[in-house]
Amino acid sequence: MRKHLLGAAFVVCVLLLSGGVAAARDFSPGAAGSGDPFFPLAGNGGYDVGNYGLTLAYAPSSNRLTGEAVVTATATQDLSRFDLDLRGFAVARVLVDGQAATFARDGQELVITPPAGLVSGSQFTVTVDYAGKPSVVTDPDRSIEGWVPTKDGAFVVGEPQGSPAWYPVNDSPRDKATYDFAVSVPRGLTVMANGVLLSHATAAGKTTWRWRESDPMASFLATATIGRFDLTQHSVDGIPAYVAVDPQFTKRQVLSKLPAAIRFYASIYGPYPFTAVGAIVDKAPGVGYSLETQTKPVFAYMPDEATLVHELAHQWYGDSVTLAQWPDIWLHEGFATWSEWIWSEHEGKASAHQIFTRLYDTPAGNTAFWNPPPGDPGTPVHLFDGTIYERGGMTLQALREKVGDPAFFKIMRDWAQQNRFGTVTTPELIALAERDSGMDLGAFFQVWLYQPGKPTTW
Ligand SMILES: [Zn+2]
Repeated sequence: MRKHLLGAAFVVCVLLLSGGVAAARDFSPGAAGSGDPFFPLAGNGGYDVGNYGLTLAYAPSSNRLTGEAVVTATATQDLSRFDLDLRGFAVARVLVDGQAATFARDGQELVITPPAGLVSGSQFTVTVDYAGKPSVVTDPDRSIEGWVPTKDGAFVVGEPQGSPAWYPVNDSPRDKATYDFAVSVPRGLTVMANGVLLSHATAAGKTTWRWRESDPMASFLATATIGRFDLTQHSVDGIPAYVAVDPQFTKRQVLSKLPAAIRFYASIYGPYPFTAVGAIVDKAPGVGYSLETQTKPVFAYMPDEATLVHELAHQWYGDSVTLAQWPDIWLHEGFATWSEWIWSEHEGKASAHQIFTRLYDTPAGNTAFWNPPPGDPGTPVHLFDGTIYERGGMTLQALREKVGDPAFFKIMRDWAQQNRFGTVTTPELIALAERDSGMDLGAFFQVWLYQPGKPTTW
């Protein structure tokens, strides 16, 4: 608030100095989207979020979510107006720096006009009070995400565009922020959100769970999954670990692999990136996939070992190091898939080379296996096609065999460490690989990532 007044004073001074000639700041609306090729309306322009403070209450019996979101952001242009992404809900009130703002709804856009323009560089807070039935979002590949009700709560996942189904957000992977969650549910239910558990306290039949994610997080990695869970807390080398399991699952041995997998990946990729670790094992039959929600991946079923380590490896590649644009999804899925293979190799089972060889035997005529090439899914329908995973993982194994283990493992580690908490592109990976290996890899990556059909020479 104070900074806005300073901004207004600055405008007056400019006008006086220039003798009243129009030299005032040019406040203009922030863009309605962040320009992603696949999800052009996701994210918004004109500001950068620092923190989301989400105070939510959920009633599973009526599937009603009541929320107050306090979004702390910094203007990156002189803003007359800006958007947040929010799907559905009735919005009761929007404040900017405590002052009532006017707002309108336009599809997934919540269009907010503050009482005074926001000066570039100034920090501001937006408070949004909202309530209603949260949405289940159906993606171009027909999978579902968002806030998905379960028998005892909700399975909450946001990749690639489900987060606006439960909170107002700048839904771009490029705008990472910290999060504070306070989620109230009926007594007996557990809320699993990102980061560290601060407290849980029960009053008047409701339990409020407070979690804090103090490291930067892309919006699609947020969760507040709710249900009946057996929650255990331990630590992995001093990092608090939270493992929540739906009591319906009695065979849980796979979860005992978590500490060893974290330690193994830390030994090859560099230190575990975050301040908490864990897993959320829910029963969400309609979802059918797991997601690398930051600090504690969420599973719609009891995972097998490969799925568990896949999601844990994503904490380095996907969560800490995140794509800047969705067509680069192989930077997440190819890396997590190859991580399954190196875990298998580490465990003395099939080596990454053996897995590569078996996959490479797939005939060239099996175009569904080889296409689309992992660096170019073409449309969001193919975002999570098998080829993004398997040919993406094969790209890394082929790279390993081309540059040799010392250079390859240096590339993997440098990629994770130099881009910690950042966002990245495929050309940046290629540049790093060439730097670390001292080799010209343009043709190699062209063949593996962008050329349709089975690679034959590289
Ligand atoms: Zn994955």
